[in-house]
Amino acid sequence: MIKILHRLISITGKYKGRIRASYVTAFIKGIMMKVPLILCFLTISFFMNGTMDKSKCLYMGIAMVASVILEAVFEHITNVLQSATGYMVFADMRLRLGDHLRKLPMGYFTEGNIGKINSVLATDMVFIEENCMGVLSELVTFMISQGLMVVMMFVMDFRIGLLSLLVVAVFIIIGNLMLKNTLMHSVNKQEYSEALTEEVLDFAEGIGIIKSYNMLGEKSKKLTDEFEKSCKESIAFEKDYTPWSRALNLTFGIGTSLVLAVSAYLYNSGSITAEYMVGMALFLFDVFVSIKAYYSQMARLTVTSASLDRIEEVFKARELEDRGNDSIASAANNDIPEIEYDNVTFGYTEKDVLKNVSFKVNKNEMLALVGPSGGGKSTIASLLARFWDVRSGSIKICGKNIKDVSIGNLMDRISMVFQRVYLFQDTVYNNIAMARPDATREEVEAAAKKARCYDFIMQLPDGFDTVIGEGGASLSGGEQQRISIARCILKDAPIVILDEATASVDADNERAIQEAISELCKDKTLMVIAHRLKTIKDADKILVISDGRIKEEGNHTDLMEKNGTYAHMVKLQSA
Ligand code: ADP
Repeated sequence: MIKILHRLISITGKYKGRIRASYVTAFIKGIMMKVPLILCFLTISFFMNGTMDKSKCLYMGIAMVASVILEAVFEHITNVLQSATGYMVFADMRLRLGDHLRKLPMGYFTEGNIGKINSVLATDMVFIEENCMGVLSELVTFMISQGLMVVMMFVMDFRIGLLSLLVVAVFIIIGNLMLKNTLMHSVNKQEYSEALTEEVLDFAEGIGIIKSYNMLGEKSKKLTDEFEKSCKESIAFEKDYTPWSRALNLTFGIGTSLVLAVSAYLYNSGSITAEYMVGMALFLFDVFVSIKAYYSQMARLTVTSASLDRIEEVFKARELEDRGNDSIASAANNDIPEIEYDNVTFGYTEKDVLKNVSFKVNKNEMLALVGPSGGGKSTIASLLARFWDVRSGSIKICGKNIKDVSIGNLMDRISMVFQRVYLFQDTVYNNIAMARPDATREEVEAAAKKARCYDFIMQLPDGFDTVIGEGGASLSGGEQQRISIARCILKDAPIVILDEATASVDADNERAIQEAISELCKDKTLMVIAHRLKTIKDADKILVISDGRIKEEGNHTDLMEKNGTYAHMVKLQSA
């Protein structure tokens, strides 16, 4: 358990000092909590031995009020120090997580890991932030109060002291067994909850397909199974937890009764005075309250262990190395190729998907990648943007190995137009301007004009300020595609990667998109993944990629003369 506390404290990072300060205030609060009891005891003894007078009575009253006020003040300070720190710690942690996710290779973002990130952000962090940080001080308060109680029992009589120590030891044994049990279940509970999140995400994302293939029953069954598993685990947890929690209650009852019985016996045998006996009656139900509360709070904390594991797991995922300090811009030189792949080998798993791929593209040239589906075209393109790192060989831009430049600098050099466009739920303006936040409104509008989207944007209810995805402002696939091209035009990066950009739109949209792409590609170095070969007839270099290798290389005329795979593909498409 100390381990969990230690882990919780270690995540507080630079706020550790505040948490430690809160222990001091919690310590004072713990003492203040017991002061009224001690004062009551003293007051009763003064009355009983006839030494109470007016001034003592006044002092006792003042001390009582002061202790209650001080307790409230220190409780407030402790709460501010801890709860507020919890929110600060997690605000920082979420920012760090965002930064970390940004640096992970795209390969990390599988369905399973997206579910995990979701759980970490929506469940684990929220749980620890809201439930655990504030509990830390309470635990300290409980430990101190319990210690003070045992000391007071020793002050009453050493035999009562020893008995209370014994009862505390029984509490510790039962409490720790309970926590061990809870810990085991909490790991299972969190695992099932994670699997459930994944299944819900999968169901929600695929609802269109599920409905169209009439698989609602089948998929709902899978979801129901996950719900049932999660429910069964929660019930098993309660079943295992309840006997231990009852045993703690029983220890409390028996321990309190024993203390009363021993005190009565000692009073009867004349070992303790009547004042002490009255004092005992006052303290009796408070003797073991703190340790009982301590264990019920600790049970909540055990769930934290699995949450902390998962948070750590996401943070442990290996980032792409971003140690490069070189700048591509400073290396730009017309004599060296803009893009150079040298013996690149790469695989998503152990199996190589690209094998010894080498080629060069000069500044403002157009490179086209063609070939059968699954051959490795998209993989070649995504390696240029360091979505993954090569297994062996190197990729250079303007003579600089892309691993030696910062990812930020690399991304400034590349624009990508994917087949699948993602627009954020934000205004049209912000969706374009995000490519270059310092752009002026005129520049954003000019980019929209070049991307052939100005006219349809002006017809939207609030023009550029229309929020996409709201108020009926849903856009067609082609319109979304053009907005994403406007984004790239505004970015004005020297290298453009085009991935089958116009594959899924109607003829009108296709023409507009082609015009937009022509604008985007003016004076740029292009890497185009093409299926329709007529669009790449004028490419400076065409690579036929098949089974992860370059099968043919040359321009359209060369490759037609060669009469190989490319010529065959062209004939098939024109037939
Ligand atoms: P193309 O673009 O020519 O259709 P890809 O580069 O998409 O080919 O795919 C090349 C190979 O890599 C295929 O066998 C494909 O299944 C595999 N592949 C592509 N993306 C991934 C991925 N994210 N994880 C694992 N394998 C992948």
